[in-house]
Amino acid sequence: MATILVYNNQTDRMERFERAFTEPMPYANQTLLVGEFRGTSQSFLLWTQRAAMQSWVQFRALWNRPIYLPYCFRRIGEGGHASQSQHYAGVSFDCAQNLTNAERTKMRQLASSSGLWTYVEPASLTPTWVHMDRRSLPAACSAGYPLTREGMRGVYVCILQDALNLLQNANLTIDGNFGPATRAAVVQFQSRRSLTPDGIVGCATWQRLTALAVGSGLPLDMQY
Ligand SMILES: [Zn+2]
Repeated sequence: MATILVYNNQTDRMERFERAFTEPMPYANQTLLVGEFRGTSQSFLLWTQRAAMQSWVQFRALWNRPIYLPYCFRRIGEGGHASQSQHYAGVSFDCAQNLTNAERTKMRQLASSSGLWTYVEPASLTPTWVHMDRRSLPAACSAGYPLTREGMRGVYVCILQDALNLLQNANLTIDGNFGPATRAAVVQFQSRRSLTPDGIVGCATWQRLTALAVGSGLPLDMQY
């Protein structure tokens, strides 16, 4: 059983679902199971945004046959793709490892021309799979993290809360809502690391957070 947090782009609200790994992801119209979205992650807490699921559903309809998807969501502590945010944000899909090069090229071209994704990785970077994502724009950093501050909601707040819990036992509930407790933990992190303690997570703070948190492990209680 997994807990799935979904940022609903249409209402600017976080939604929470409890589903088995064999059940479909919220908003995925039966085209993506929770277990597929979890991929190689060991986490029982997953997050994504509604827009990413909608892009997946529409792309699946265009492709018009099942898509092999072994790598998708990761917690930042699990690491796996350096500082780049998209898989930690739950908005990326690494798929089609089972296809021939020619078929993968076809899928990459369809992904690009569909206009459904904000980014499709070129074959030179991912020759044996197709990476497509619905990342947030604009980014404060080249690694894809947007400026994040009190009052905001979404998957990047989830990453932030997760990283703060890992790095300084902030004991934040990972809910994707940037409230006063999250802000206080950010100020504490910034103060300890000679960053401007303004509670606003811009490029410099994201860089320090990711440098320390990526690959540092999952919390002992992975449910929280
Ligand atoms: Zn990827």
